[in-house]
Amino acid sequence: MNSIHLGWSPFFENQLTSGDRSHYATGRILEERKNFYVLLTEDGSEVLVSAAGKLQYEASGRGELPAVGDWVCATVRSKEGRGTIHRVLERRTKISRKNAGAVTDEQVLAANIDTVFLVSSLNQEFNSRRIERYLALAWESGARPVVLLTKADLCEKPAEAIAEIERMAPFVPVHVVSALVGSGLDALAEYLGPGQTCVLLGSSGVGKSTLVNRILGEERLEVREIRSSDGRGRHTTTSRQMIFLPEGGMLIDTPGIRELQLWNADEALGNAFNDVAEAASRCRFTDCGHHPGTPGCAVQSAIESGALSLERVANWSKLGRERAFLSRRKNKKALSEEKERWKAIELADRKRYFPEEFFND
Ligand code: GDP
Ligand code: ZN
Repeated sequence: MNSIHLGWSPFFENQLTSGDRSHYATGRILEERKNFYVLLTEDGSEVLVSAAGKLQYEASGRGELPAVGDWVCATVRSKEGRGTIHRVLERRTKISRKNAGAVTDEQVLAANIDTVFLVSSLNQEFNSRRIERYLALAWESGARPVVLLTKADLCEKPAEAIAEIERMAPFVPVHVVSALVGSGLDALAEYLGPGQTCVLLGSSGVGKSTLVNRILGEERLEVREIRSSDGRGRHTTTSRQMIFLPEGGMLIDTPGIRELQLWNADEALGNAFNDVAEAASRCRFTDCGHHPGTPGCAVQSAIESGALSLERVANWSKLGRERAFLSRRKNKKALSEEKERWKAIELADRKRYFPEEFFND
């Protein structure tokens, strides 16, 4: 295995300074554990590494700290099998979500991914709205989205579901698979080759683990039986990790993103809802709320003419509200950061001009 197989490319090579080249080893983060990362270095060894204090201190948020899939510059103490990360190279793509806690902060779930498989099962849980939201996240990540419809063996008419997705996202490839009977899997090979990194996104129970096991040809990930009460499988994957595939590529296995919240969704909204956004741009008033009866509302007239479905527009405006909420929270955070900054400056000034206050204890 060499670093090209791991996804190294000129994009990363060009970021290295001559200092980086002489002082550091480069490697890719395979796994994130509490306080540690597992790093695969270019010479093929796995090392437990932590982020240097300076890196942690200078990061403006969690989003700048190492994440699974990142390429990093590190010092390695080979004898101990330990090391320190000094630099995270700029990411080509990333999948992020808002931190579940109270603080608005970006959490990078996977970095430098080529393909995002949006996984949905064809049985009773099929939900194109959910796919639409994952699609927004995929567009936002910068990686290529591919829809995977699983459990084909449980569905007699997948054509309807496919058509629904094609209407929603005309340029996104859709593949129908069954991990149980092994159908449709050959078509996935083109996304799984050497140097390629993919990720599976989808609700718990849609068959992600089963699919990965099928591709690997072994029971690597735990598959839980579906609870009969709600038709869903239990959440089984516990840690984010990189899985090497027989085709030569890599899969980053992230815990199911069940409650999807959007981060920096503006771009994503524009892409997944091109048609709605386009109509909205033709409204007479720039602050149009697109409510029924609004004069000159191009969105309402598109609904009336049948060019847009009411449902899609409702979904679009719902995402818009979520985005507005997030940006309000972000602004709040920026405001309080600004306050802290001024507090620190004031304090430094006082120390300078009134030193006795601080040193006469
Ligand atoms: P995950 O939570 O997305 O990883 O889903 P799992 O892989 O744990 O699967 C959840 C349930 O769906 C398990 O009971 C699997 O046996 C079942 N399952 C997965 N793939 C298929 C399939 O292709 N066909 C059928 N009929 N069941 C499947
Ligand atoms: Zn309007």
